[in-house]
Amino acid sequence: MNLYPLGLRLAGRRVLVVGGGTVATRRVPALLDAGADVLVVSPELTPTLHGLVTAGRVDWRPRRFEPADLDGVWLAQVAVDDAAAAAEVSAAAEPRRVFCVRADDRTEATAWTPAVTRHGPVTVAVLGGGDPQRAVRVRDAIGQRLADGSIPVADPAPAPASAGSTTGRVVLIGAGPGDPELITVKGRRLLAEADVVVADRLVPGLLLDELPARVELIDAAKIPYGPAAAQEEINRILVDRARTGATVVRLKGGDPYVFGRGGEELLACVEAGVPVCVVPGVTSSIAAPAAAGVPVTHRGVAHEFTVVSGHLPPGHRLSLVDWPALARLRGTLVVLMGLKNLSAITDTLLTNGRSGDTPVAVVQEATTGAERALTSTLAAVAGDVVAAGLRPPAVVVVGDVVHALRPDAG
Ligand code: SAH
Repeated sequence: MNLYPLGLRLAGRRVLVVGGGTVATRRVPALLDAGADVLVVSPELTPTLHGLVTAGRVDWRPRRFEPADLDGVWLAQVAVDDAAAAAEVSAAAEPRRVFCVRADDRTEATAWTPAVTRHGPVTVAVLGGGDPQRAVRVRDAIGQRLADGSIPVADPAPAPASAGSTTGRVVLIGAGPGDPELITVKGRRLLAEADVVVADRLVPGLLLDELPARVELIDAAKIPYGPAAAQEEINRILVDRARTGATVVRLKGGDPYVFGRGGEELLACVEAGVPVCVVPGVTSSIAAPAAAGVPVTHRGVAHEFTVVSGHLPPGHRLSLVDWPALARLRGTLVVLMGLKNLSAITDTLLTNGRSGDTPVAVVQEATTGAERALTSTLAAVAGDVVAAGLRPPAVVVVGDVVHALRPDAG
């Protein structure tokens, strides 16, 4: 018999879940996501389901199923593995004409849940004709293609519009620290919708390599003028291209708001009345230490981490960093853009009280094939970096966490 697929609009409608174990724990979130009014009937609950009850997100009757539990219910999910208990729910659901999904025995169910993958507004649901593994295989293959943009989720590119007649949008996307797989799922999906990509120098090259030829690629690093004028030029490009109706992706290394000037670009769009949104990214300030085996916090070692820019030397008249205060912190200090000023930075930290034997790691081009790293001490690191020939982009991480994952270094 063939199936008849449906998309259920469950908002505010009661769904009964019988059982409180791992199957129920897996099913309930999607029901809540659809806005369903979820009632769980089960003598016991997993800690996760307990949390949802405590948070007031689901109702719970702490006992075994009774037919009256089906009153007012649109759909029942049976998530128990006891066949007799499950059959009891089915037997009560049938005369009430409530569709009943059965985790224990699909042949006894009146509805089957498909394998699902969600991409923005699109939900793909696959039924495998009685073979759940087949459904998962097909779902994964489609999900993969949706994620890499080879099946477009967005509306087709708008017909070339005369300037001003349609508004496109700007999306500021954090591309992650370097490994092209470290962009977020959402970032990748929206990148695949771009008509124009304005990319930073630090953006993973492989992400750009995958862009279809129709996408206009603007290399922000190649914009002439000084840094200040270049930023204005970038803002202008974002706004102007969006005003032609294009989806403009501003792709930035790491996270757009960590020393990425994403805030200025967002404001420029807002001021120009261009729709704009931000997709956070995996920042190098956390990922580069991690790539070198350094956790920025560790139980019993560091309860804080501070991320600072070292692009201006300590004491510079435009610097907003209180370096002497940082020297007094016990926690982890992560310095971005700090190689050029490294000896001035370490001198200032030492002069203001941080110990010379504080461990330091330096990680260059983290998470890429060119990654290089060294460990040293606060007193020696500036010299060691020069001797090793490390270059930007690199992250400097100062603190006892540098050795936290080395069992030999007590
Ligand atoms: N928005 C970015 C940071 C931009 S500032 C982020 O969140 O990661 C640029 C600095 O980031 C570089 O000078 C360097 O200190 C650091 N950086 C970025 N990518 C890096 C990488 N792959 N490895 C080491 N440092 C990196």
